[in-house]
Amino acid sequence: MTKNYNTEDLNNRLAEREWMIQTQLVSRDITDEAVIKSMLIVPRHKYVMEDKQAYAYYDTALDIEAGQTISQPYIVALMAQALELKSSDKVMEIGTGSGYSAAILSRMAEYIYTIERLDVLAQIAKRRFQDQGYENIEVYVGDGTLGWAEKAPFDAILVTAGGPLIPDSLIHQLAVGGRLVIPVGDKGVQKLMRVKKTATSELSEENLGTVRFVPLIGTKGWRESIMLEGL
Ligand code: SAM
Repeated sequence: MTKNYNTEDLNNRLAEREWMIQTQLVSRDITDEAVIKSMLIVPRHKYVMEDKQAYAYYDTALDIEAGQTISQPYIVALMAQALELKSSDKVMEIGTGSGYSAAILSRMAEYIYTIERLDVLAQIAKRRFQDQGYENIEVYVGDGTLGWAEKAPFDAILVTAGGPLIPDSLIHQLAVGGRLVIPVGDKGVQKLMRVKKTATSELSEENLGTVRFVPLIGTKGWRESIMLEGL
């Protein structure tokens, strides 16, 4: 596919991304060259609100619109690495948020289908993809816990919000040989789980460590009413 990226954005704040990669990714356990290259290229400061742009390359998650968050760069890299992507892979992401992780994945795989439940975030992310020339990302507004059956099977599925369990719908939509990465646990803390579909009805599961994500809200996630009770 011919890609028409906005090269002005790519060169902007490149030195800060180099610093982010050395001090936050390579110094930890990120070794996947495709992840490192993608994180060097994608301008994270373009995925946050103006008043947060100064902090875009810090070692931290940041607030975005609609009370949601863009994950810490290291966590984005860790999840992208855990997906073990090939350039021919078809990927589904649940939780578009700012659009940053979809942009990272889109430079490592063939096509990204990303689902966001909040329309306001989906529209902002779509505009960013257009502005920066990403032509291999499709955004859908809906309940990602049900997946995207018409586009399945997927070689890899990334969930960027924390759910109480692994939705069976996502397992069904994973190709044989596919990888699903998802935070699973309670509303405060989760285990980052990687599930591999080794055969049609055979799965292997690994715990990649402790993470903290905003809740996955939907039919096969947390109920929205339960989230409001906690306020
Ligand atoms: N990947 C995002 C990024 O790069 O900015 C981070 C996303 S944020 C941590 C989690 C997102 O998941 C929020 O935008 C939230 O609205 C969304 N979300 C929660 N439950 C969802 C669901 N069932 N379907 C789709 N999106 C959902």
